[in-house]
Amino acid sequence: MSSLRCIAKHPAIALVDSSTTLKELKQIHAQLLIHGVLPHLSGNFVTAIAFRNPNNLEYSNQVLHQCDNPPISALNSMIRAYSKTSAPTKSFHFYNQILHSRPNLLPDNYTFNFLVGTSAQAASFETGASAHAALLKHGFENDPHVLTALISMYGELGCLEESHRVFQGISEPDVVARTAMLTAGAKCGDVDHARKVFDEMPERDPCTWNAMIAGYAQCGKPEEALDMFHLMQMEGVRVNTVCMVSVLSACSHLGVLDHGRWAHAYIERSKVRMDVTLGTALLDMYAKCGDMSKAMEVFWGMKEKNVYTWSCALGGLAMNGYGEKCLELFTLMEKEGVRPNEITFVSVLRGCTVVGLVEEGQRHFDSMRKLYGIEPQLEHYGCIVDLYGRAGRLDEALNFINNMPMKPHSGAWMALLHASKLHRNLELGELASRKVLELDDRDHCAYVLLSNIYADSKYYDGVDNVREMMKAKGVQKKVPGCSVIEVNGEVYEFFAGGNKSHPRYNEIITKLEEISQRLKSAGYVANTNPVLFDMEEEDKEDALATHSEKFAIAFGLITLREGVPIRVVNNLRICLNCHDVTKMISNIFNREIIVRDRNRFHHFQKGKCSCNDYW
Ligand code: ZN
Ligand code: ZN
Repeated sequence: MSSLRCIAKHPAIALVDSSTTLKELKQIHAQLLIHGVLPHLSGNFVTAIAFRNPNNLEYSNQVLHQCDNPPISALNSMIRAYSKTSAPTKSFHFYNQILHSRPNLLPDNYTFNFLVGTSAQAASFETGASAHAALLKHGFENDPHVLTALISMYGELGCLEESHRVFQGISEPDVVARTAMLTAGAKCGDVDHARKVFDEMPERDPCTWNAMIAGYAQCGKPEEALDMFHLMQMEGVRVNTVCMVSVLSACSHLGVLDHGRWAHAYIERSKVRMDVTLGTALLDMYAKCGDMSKAMEVFWGMKEKNVYTWSCALGGLAMNGYGEKCLELFTLMEKEGVRPNEITFVSVLRGCTVVGLVEEGQRHFDSMRKLYGIEPQLEHYGCIVDLYGRAGRLDEALNFINNMPMKPHSGAWMALLHASKLHRNLELGELASRKVLELDDRDHCAYVLLSNIYADSKYYDGVDNVREMMKAKGVQKKVPGCSVIEVNGEVYEFFAGGNKSHPRYNEIITKLEEISQRLKSAGYVANTNPVLFDMEEEDKEDALATHSEKFAIAFGLITLREGVPIRVVNNLRICLNCHDVTKMISNIFNREIIVRDRNRFHHFQKGKCSCNDYW
């Protein structure tokens, strides 16, 4: 930042760097006045405040106003500072000041760098295109820094082709430009494009690696993110905080506790700087891997916590079934004066739902608007329907939906449909499924639930009708069932029906047969009602051998030492049959089994599940 470096010359101005409060800045201001140097230095002072303390923008504005001929660096600093606010387009005001205030003042490459950043932040293609046009007009079409910023900007705006066009216009792109191109690819969801850029790079710096790992993590490819991280270490590349956030988020996504623990140890060993974002990512990893006590240990150990940290802890407690603890923690959060946001309330409402605290949930929902001025969104409404529905208060759930201020979304009706299934209410189940199907007539889940409600009531014509409808509309499962288990640091994926190509397939089948035998002798009768088809599979000839979580559990029993809990992550809601069977397995094999399904955790132990069969 050469045009900004000169500002540090005066000792009083150098102090701005370490001052964060308005009071401190005003003291420096007073010192400059007392020493009579302010007239020469006011421009530099503005530059310094806006650059180092972008939180005090109003104050910088005031000082700027008193400045006769603000230098370009001061105006650039203002552009940059505003580009990071929620009103980024205000930057253009200072750009216009550069253009029109005095004839010898011209925009430089920093001006355009920051202006392009503004457009990315504004998320407006029009703004971006005008910044692009302006920099061309002022002859910066060959400036590599400006072009690199432009590549990033188009990436943020989701215009990969534009990014690529700019990139190709650079005759010899350096590592920064290539990394920007890589990031743009990942931002636009084309992680293969990003990988291609990565592979073709003649040299890479730590930022490149970090960007590639983040790209995989953000594009929903956590395994690739972890592979890339291991590769990065083999190459001995320095790891930074941002990178570890991506690595932990990949572990959370996959639910691989061993990898997560290892990443934690790595952070401590390599002394990666622990900021509030990384701490929160660490807490989230433990929570999403089902180790809530460790997650809370991280939480209590964090010096700085923000609203995301609190929300993550609250969400983790709710997901792991600790509803009361979640509410206790929320009380503490309020006491400490941390202002909750929308995400916090989703966690709190879920906390109420898992323990069936209906009135408490309703009270928190009301407090969103009353106490905090937060307008509840569709997701919050869905949570309340779920809250009433699971508690068996179906009429109130329906009443609540009917009184929503906006058109009820599929999620609200789906919550009612699940509740109707749970509480065997045929009439409401029909209504709810009809409403879901009005919004999307190919919603596989709605058909399956309705069919199961019919089957539960032994109304087999209804079941047949649903099947006919599904056939006629060509409804198919959107996502196949898949379970992940981590054994000795390796991640294994199992699909519904089993993976015949798995090297230990035969052993797994033998184990499944053994499980089946032992369940039978323990008196378990598999629910093989042929018309009861479930979330994952239509055929249930052998109830034990179909679902992916059963394969994963059997594999866990073969490979994991006695006493080591089996942790499985499933991408769908666990079905009734798997839930029953897993409870039995935990008892017969005396093994703790932890299943994370799409909604929450099930901790199975000694024949019982932490969800109390309520999910
Ligand atoms: Zn199942
Ligand atoms: Zn359960």
